[in-house]
Amino acid sequence: MTGTATVGADTDTSVPGASAAAIAEVEAHTAANYHPLPVVLAHGEGAWVTDVEGNRYLDMLAGYSALNFGHRHPRLVAAAERQLGRLTLTGRAFHNDQLGTFARELSVLCGMDAILPMNTGAEAVETALKLARKWGYEVKGVPAGRAKVITFSGNFHGRTITIVSFSDDPAATRGFGPPTPGFVSVPYGDAAALDAAIDDDTVAVLLEPIQGEAGVIIPSDGFLAAVRRLCTERNVLMLADEIQSGLGRTGETFACDRERVRPDAYVLGKALGGGILPVSAVVASAELMGVFRPGQHGSTFGGNPLACAVGIEVVRMLGTGEFQARARELGVVLADLLAGLPRDRVSAVRTRGLWAGIDVMGRTGRDVCEGLMRRGVLAKDTHGSTIRLAPPLVIERAELEWAVGQLREELGA
Ligand SMILES: *Cc1c(COP(=O)(O)O)cnc(C)c1O
Repeated sequence: MTGTATVGADTDTSVPGASAAAIAEVEAHTAANYHPLPVVLAHGEGAWVTDVEGNRYLDMLAGYSALNFGHRHPRLVAAAERQLGRLTLTGRAFHNDQLGTFARELSVLCGMDAILPMNTGAEAVETALKLARKWGYEVKGVPAGRAKVITFSGNFHGRTITIVSFSDDPAATRGFGPPTPGFVSVPYGDAAALDAAIDDDTVAVLLEPIQGEAGVIIPSDGFLAAVRRLCTERNVLMLADEIQSGLGRTGETFACDRERVRPDAYVLGKALGGGILPVSAVVASAELMGVFRPGQHGSTFGGNPLACAVGIEVVRMLGTGEFQARARELGVVLADLLAGLPRDRVSAVRTRGLWAGIDVMGRTGRDVCEGLMRRGVLAKDTHGSTIRLAPPLVIERAELEWAVGQLREELGA
């Protein structure tokens, strides 16, 4: 388990010095909308990835939780390969023989009735917002054009014009106006502020049960239950964006489970595609989903049989509870290990399951992540001074210990 070990035959294309050329090509020919670490990956298996030069790294980011089951989990690869040999795409003009099973099994996992399948997380968030507005006009009786959705400070729900309209991150919003109207924001974790913001035109509250992109910000105990209570009392939909927090990451199937809260709709993505392809969905009651009629919403790729085949396997893997249990047990280990980080280098640590936000002092998060990369650990900074750890749930205890050991040494260096 070192960053310099080379691996076997499946990466025999390793070329010393190949990273620089690959990075130059990307920099010359892609939009610079990301600032990746200078590592070029060519292979992945479980919690480990290998770069084009044959160096191995422990992946402590896991595609921002899109890789909860690790790289190329055998069950997921097998499901994809089976489906590749049968049927990959139909569009929703016709039925396919995978969507029904996926929809039923995902609904059961969520304790709901029905799904609306999309591809990316942002699309699923947009879908949930359209669902809420339509419900507001048709069921709640909000006057035309007045529907209001309440969001929270520090939120991250994706990158479309509408979604960045309620972001308070200047990098996400500046230069992209005018914003879509119909959204108001209240401080995250503040139930009283939410209560005050709800009025007769409010159709929904959209929240991350734990804010991932903001740096694994965990609201105080009781907040989710308070949101649920307010939404029920005031006839407002609770939309839980569990794209990053859901599907095992926190040690439960959903982060909302911890407070035994069931939202009116789950918004899912990332790990739903098993790290293989983009799969997202909104999951809700039949009654709520019933506001959509033919022609009112859709997606060419949403519900495609290849995505559904992988999604079915994801749902079945989560159905055993095995991954949630791992995240819970290893989450305790992770929290203990992080408590041993040098106090003079770390101002705060937040963990829930196999998910952590670590605020570093005296150095940028970027600088620490570059140092970690040289040590064979891949992680990513967020908001300047926070390092987010979200290892694949298949990680072994010894690997976790090794990774946090590298972080401890890097911070002490
Ligand atoms: C990643 C993320 C999204 C957006 O998902 P994309 O697939 O990148 O569009 C939305 N909400 C949350 C909470 C996320 O973490």
